[in-house]
Amino acid sequence: MPTQHSRIRTFEEYTDAYKRSVENPEQFWADVAEPFTWRRKWDTVVKADLVGGHNEWFSGAKLNITENCLDRHLATRGNKLALIWEPNDPKTRQIRYTYRELHQEVCRFANVLHNNGVEKGDRVCIYMPMIPQLAIAVLACARIGAVHSVVFAGFSATAIADRVNDAQATTVLTSDGLNRGARQIPVKRVVDEALETCPSVRRVIVVEHLGWPVHMEEGRDVWYHEEALEAEKSCPAEEMDAEDMLFILYTSGSTGKPKGVVHTQAGYMVWADYTFRNVFQVQENDIYWCTADIGWVTGHSYLLYGPLLSGASTLMFEGVPTYPSAGRFWEVIDKHGVNIFYTAPTAIRSLMATPLDNVLSYSLDSLRILGTVGEPINVEAWDWYHTHVGKERCPIVDTWWQTETGGIMISALGSISPLKPAHAGQPLPGVQPVLLTQEGKEIEGNEEEGYLAIKYPWPGMIRTTYGDHERCRQTYFGAYPGYYFTGDGARRDKDGLYRIIGRVDDVINVSGHRFGTAEIENAINENAYVVESAVVGYPHDVKGQGIYAFVICGEPVKPNQLSHVEASIIETVVAEIGKIAKPDKIQIVSGLPKTRSGKIMRRILRKVAEGEISNLGDTTTLLDPGIVEEIIAGKK
Ligand code: ATP
Ligand code: MG
Repeated sequence: MPTQHSRIRTFEEYTDAYKRSVENPEQFWADVAEPFTWRRKWDTVVKADLVGGHNEWFSGAKLNITENCLDRHLATRGNKLALIWEPNDPKTRQIRYTYRELHQEVCRFANVLHNNGVEKGDRVCIYMPMIPQLAIAVLACARIGAVHSVVFAGFSATAIADRVNDAQATTVLTSDGLNRGARQIPVKRVVDEALETCPSVRRVIVVEHLGWPVHMEEGRDVWYHEEALEAEKSCPAEEMDAEDMLFILYTSGSTGKPKGVVHTQAGYMVWADYTFRNVFQVQENDIYWCTADIGWVTGHSYLLYGPLLSGASTLMFEGVPTYPSAGRFWEVIDKHGVNIFYTAPTAIRSLMATPLDNVLSYSLDSLRILGTVGEPINVEAWDWYHTHVGKERCPIVDTWWQTETGGIMISALGSISPLKPAHAGQPLPGVQPVLLTQEGKEIEGNEEEGYLAIKYPWPGMIRTTYGDHERCRQTYFGAYPGYYFTGDGARRDKDGLYRIIGRVDDVINVSGHRFGTAEIENAINENAYVVESAVVGYPHDVKGQGIYAFVICGEPVKPNQLSHVEASIIETVVAEIGKIAKPDKIQIVSGLPKTRSGKIMRRILRKVAEGEISNLGDTTTLLDPGIVEEIIAGKK
């Protein structure tokens, strides 16, 4: 039985591990799971159900994930850096925590939660900027068995309220304000507004960050630093069942209402650790930096849990890539001697658009491995990243995965796998991808394209959508019973490497942030001028995709009112969702191309937005084909 955590070191080892994981998944994952700290071992490795979506891993086991992230390392890595915090302003002091210090801070925060009535199973909404207390708060929840639901601190009050109410959260953790580049934002005020419509929330714990005066609601709000004074330093970890909830994370929601993706304790832990150490080929003294916000799943699995489970040193950055200059990422890499750097194609594209000197003036010679995630990386961006950041020396792991998969599914493993620009590559051990026809038939052989699905469970997979398992079943297992359906299309090349083409459904990816078209449309429709709207994405040089909104107004809009109406619509979207969702182009139309059954034909709108009007395809099922001419004539 292995006592060491499994690390694949060569391509032959990968091939061998992959083969074992398919031939005997139970033995394979039992071996991988063995070296973790378990209070009790599992009865069953896996209970598979790719029809009803009731999948379980390591059932019967008892554990606490923070004992595996922190306590387990104290004997051998107590003085090793666990978390390095780089502030928004490079002149502000960075903060570093060893594993021992981080353990203490997590215990203290956990006691503050306890003292404020948070109990095992309670849902805690965390709306905090990228400060160390965010990482500490997440782990503190896990320590006492509370379920964390992190909401990205750029979201609006309405977005918070939706998520708090869906989860019936009892507690909100936040800060007075946040820094984003040159701007400062009053975070607590947004929370106050959200909580006007959130009756389940009993307590708000506020971390002081900017030192701003904030409104403290009597009987509801407390300051973290005051509570921490009275909190005990040690906090025993709560014993959790393997399948108890660890966290809820809301995805953008292609059907309008955000989905609360649920991950549980043991499977997620094993998966986050296994994928992290193998994909990034982490070495003991590496400094690792993932630029994702903890509000997204990448921040959960690869800024926090994966690195800490593996005993790595993880860097957390408060700021933005362009402040105080567009060289900031590279400056941080040199300053901290970062060896592994993981970011999103949208960040690369935006930095590519700035003068090359911004990157060439840094040495970057500490870098060994680069990664990307979030969307397909175009060849041009891949080349720039490879040449100017990786100096043609560092492999780029293009990691394909989803909130629902908990961790990386298809990717190269550091430098040991074949690399091909714009290709995610081969599946990780334990992942059995297939390409399906629209009818659900498996496509054999290579040089083929189809719907990407997975035909065997893996430990980090989604367990349910919070409060609505039927939605989970329908979304992921309903389309092709017996498979987990990813919603993405993919191509398998002649060597069996996968390239992700994009999503099969309607989601817009703006700078790596995804929005269901319906979510934005719902927001636009809230505006008093608007009767109906349809939103599509179109190629945008910097953001990847821009948002193009076709809008029907209740009354004809006169030319001199146009800019007022547009500004008003944008204001509504910003209030409902947040700045990142604001439409780039708004076109007022008198009707939308609809099928006879009333569905908007988005592919036509997409072609118009893309300027590809020569071939609109079949328009015969349209109720009123004439409307298309009008829309083309008014294109922005
Ligand atoms: P929702 O499911 O609510 O619509 P979302 O899919 O936008 O939300 P995420 O789980 O963050 O939210 O994103 C996963 C998706 O991102 C994948 O399904 C895929 O479309 C895209 N993606 C992620 N990584 C890659 C990659 N390396 N290459 C190509 N596409 C990627
Ligand atoms: Mg998705």
